[in-house]
Amino acid sequence: MHKVIVIGRGLIGSAAGRHLAGLTDGVALLGPDEPADRATHRGVFASHYDEGRMTRAVDPDPIWAVTAKRSIDRYDEIEAEGGIRFFTPSGYLGLSGPGSDYLDRSEAAGRPLGAQIARLDAADIRTRFPFLKIADDRRGLHETGKAGHLSPRAMVAAQSAAAAKRGATIIAEEAAAIRLISGGVEVETAAGAVHQAERVLIAAGAFTDAWGLSPQALNLRVFGRTVTLARIEGDLAEELASMPTMGHAESGAYILPPIRYPDGHLYLKIGIGSTDDADLHSREDFSRWFKSSGSADNRRDFQAFLTDLIPGLARASHWHTDTCAVAWTATGYPHIDWVEDGRIAVAVGGNGKGAKSADDWGWLAARLVAGEDWDHPVSRDKLRLPAKA
Ligand SMILES: Cc1cc2nc3c(=O)[nH]c(=O)nc-3n(C[C@H](O)[C@H](O)[C@H](O)COP(=O)(O)OP(=O)(O)OC[C@H]3O[C@@H](n4cnc5c(N)ncnc54)[C@H](O)[C@@H]3O)c2cc1C
Repeated sequence: MHKVIVIGRGLIGSAAGRHLAGLTDGVALLGPDEPADRATHRGVFASHYDEGRMTRAVDPDPIWAVTAKRSIDRYDEIEAEGGIRFFTPSGYLGLSGPGSDYLDRSEAAGRPLGAQIARLDAADIRTRFPFLKIADDRRGLHETGKAGHLSPRAMVAAQSAAAAKRGATIIAEEAAAIRLISGGVEVETAAGAVHQAERVLIAAGAFTDAWGLSPQALNLRVFGRTVTLARIEGDLAEELASMPTMGHAESGAYILPPIRYPDGHLYLKIGIGSTDDADLHSREDFSRWFKSSGSADNRRDFQAFLTDLIPGLARASHWHTDTCAVAWTATGYPHIDWVEDGRIAVAVGGNGKGAKSADDWGWLAARLVAGEDWDHPVSRDKLRLPAKA
């Protein structure tokens, strides 16, 4: 019998697996590898099958800011221990116009944490980032130092490799059912294997409710998200070489600079979260969504938005879309709590920005499950399931 099985080998689960393996022996990290072919895949997907996630300390919400900063401070350690690099310090630029306090709140949360930040006016932004089209009333918040982007695929690989080095067992399977048994918990996999543990941590992200994993429904709101990617070639790549990750306060757009993808090409990516996005409930909803090319309206609108902000992109001739899913909780923070006291816990709910703070959410979940003191600047009550808060 394992001491702990972590279900879900994604950004939060793999982090929890590494931290748990530093606290106790007998840890297993259970979750499938990325499917080789989405179209014929019959199982679960993930929100980390990509190469770019923004990461930065500044955030209008101090809880997200401090957990991001604590995660970022451990990137060197995770990369070294896992032997896999995943972080690129490209910097971050937040953009806003009159009437928005987004940059003020982001600065107020980031500065006490020691984030390296500078306020920019429109002229400063044009000078530093000449490829942007910026109106006179736009303002920027520029974070340098350890802001930039991470490869979520590579981060999961690094965390998993580091967890294995600490003694964790990796089980590349999908959980189909979880049952309480005498003295512990039993996990049955989709392939029919059975694994037992004293405790289970569920970190299955957006899929948790639809796969019926938690004995207590988490009431996640899950949205399918479409991202649009422009292939960057030739002199456009040089023109955009200094591009930071970018957030656009009014639209909610997030933009990643050119990043190399497994097909060998550089792609610049944009996503804009909206509550018009498809709500995903059932396994069939997820399967259909992840096998689709997303929203054609999003593709058209995102391409127009991006080309307006970065006029050089009019020269990009290949555009395509990809699909992903985000899981929102009622609190706006992940739920890190017991759903079955002392036996089954959850660490679920990235709320669309879980990648940057994932290592710290995993750290907290590991300590909860291992019975360690909370010992964290975010109070435990903030992360409890609403019914128990
Ligand atoms: C388009 C898009 C862009 C984003 N951009 C950013 C960004 O720029 N910055 C940022 O901070 N965040 C971003 N996010 C959010 C971030 O990717 C998520 O918050 C993060 O992936 C959540 O981590 P997680 O571990 O909860 O879920 P996941 O990373 O999805 O991991 C869950 C894991 O559980 C596994 N799993 C599911 N069901 C089972 C099962 N039954 N048995 C076993 N394993 C199972 C899955 O296969 C997966 O590996 C973005 C999300 C999307 C969709």
